[in-house]
Amino acid sequence: MSILIKNGTVVNEDGMHKEDVLINDGIIVAVGKNLDAPENCRVVDAADKLVMPGGIDPHTHMQLPFMGEVAVDDFYSGTRAALAGGTTMIIDFVIPAKDSTPIEAYKTWRGWADPKVCCDYALSMAITTWNDKIRDEMTEVTKPEYGINSFKFFLAYSGMFMVRDEEFYQGMIHCSKIGALARVHAENGSVIAEKAKALLAQGVTGPEGHTQSRPEELEAEATNRACVMASQANCPLYVVHVMSKGAARAISYHRSKGAIIFGEPIAAGLGTDGHHYYDKDWLHAARYVMSPPLSRDKSTPEALMDLLAAGELHLTATDNCTFNCHQKELGRSDFTKIPNGVNGVEDRMAVVWHKGVNAGKIDPMRFVQITSSTAAKIFNLYPRKGRIAVGSDADIVIWNPNDTKIISKSTHHHACDFNIFEGMEVRGFAETTISRGKVVWENNELHVEAGAGKFIPAEPFCPYVFSSVPHRAKMMAPRMVVREHERVAEITMNQEIRAQNQEMST
Ligand SMILES: [Zn+2]
Repeated sequence: MSILIKNGTVVNEDGMHKEDVLINDGIIVAVGKNLDAPENCRVVDAADKLVMPGGIDPHTHMQLPFMGEVAVDDFYSGTRAALAGGTTMIIDFVIPAKDSTPIEAYKTWRGWADPKVCCDYALSMAITTWNDKIRDEMTEVTKPEYGINSFKFFLAYSGMFMVRDEEFYQGMIHCSKIGALARVHAENGSVIAEKAKALLAQGVTGPEGHTQSRPEELEAEATNRACVMASQANCPLYVVHVMSKGAARAISYHRSKGAIIFGEPIAAGLGTDGHHYYDKDWLHAARYVMSPPLSRDKSTPEALMDLLAAGELHLTATDNCTFNCHQKELGRSDFTKIPNGVNGVEDRMAVVWHKGVNAGKIDPMRFVQITSSTAAKIFNLYPRKGRIAVGSDADIVIWNPNDTKIISKSTHHHACDFNIFEGMEVRGFAETTISRGKVVWENNELHVEAGAGKFIPAEPFCPYVFSSVPHRAKMMAPRMVVREHERVAEITMNQEIRAQNQEMST
């Protein structure tokens, strides 16, 4: 089946031109002016539209078992929602329970995802405990048959996923050795656990306790610590969900010193803020509970977009992990029991476009970078993904930059019964989405099939991430000083040996 997209403006991260795009068998086979349609080819008119690489969301948690519940968007409804918003690939996280192993968990996640995904996906792996077996299995899962090239460490969720600093450090040393990117959830989990106990003891049991137990400086502190430790381990680091200015500043500071660090703000943090936690309606407030929390500083969303525009932050994701209202209710009398997580995978592209391009902060090319191509580069999937070019996968979004829509739970495609962006009017949205060379979203309708997406293995030692690591290793190699008294001792010893040898030979 071939498709010819005519009359549109093709946008890549490094240029935009009025060109046609011809797709055959899931691959882009021609890009150029005035292309002719072959026989039996469907022609899609993209006049006044932008033809861009489909979005890549590098941070989702579909059907994650978490805090005694399972996230309601599974790999089917979650990837449907993604496609309706112009995202054609997700990178989800395998999170082994403390008593499980990376390989066991990997098989579980593949078993969940493969029959359900409607778009392509890759996997990242969380490391939630540390021993020799875990280390060996980390090495194993970076082999092509598993296709993992990044590992995430939690400095939060004490008693559940959190690792100690020495485990995180050893984990990063190993990541560096096997060519895998380290990713980090950076918050000071120990202090958060203490603050949460204190707040509950003082009777603060509502969602406002969630944000008060996690002050922004605990995110900034952990981000700074993670950056320092990554530099010491000579390991490239990717900070997931940068939610506050302090965390962003820490990343920017360490990058200014030459550290290899990537910062990922998410749709929620760019599109809304933490005032919701103080809402009088308990359920309304609980819907926004996620970690790190949304910033209580109202100027943060705009500041994060400015940093994306300036290149101080690098790409956008969502941390999509949705729980229904009745699941949020589990924390009615204790905010620490409210399942953490919000939506985003469907609305990320529109929110970033609206807050970035419409606001005059970024151009469409930077939009492509921060929603697609940088993720493809970091996870070693470029230019197969993240680019409109001959030979690339036909994962494409046709973007309508002129019309508006209102984001709402009544029209979204999530399994979740609310939307944190409810009522937000955005100008610019995915009008048509093409996944693996098939039109899967058009005229506000999805045409998807469970299991139509494929697992995309990601290779380690990505040049975009790792090229300077060996040189840094040389610069960081231990140096030893041979001191004078040691040298005297050495000379004396040599003389003695020579004398002995002479004695023996005579
Ligand atoms: Zn996450």
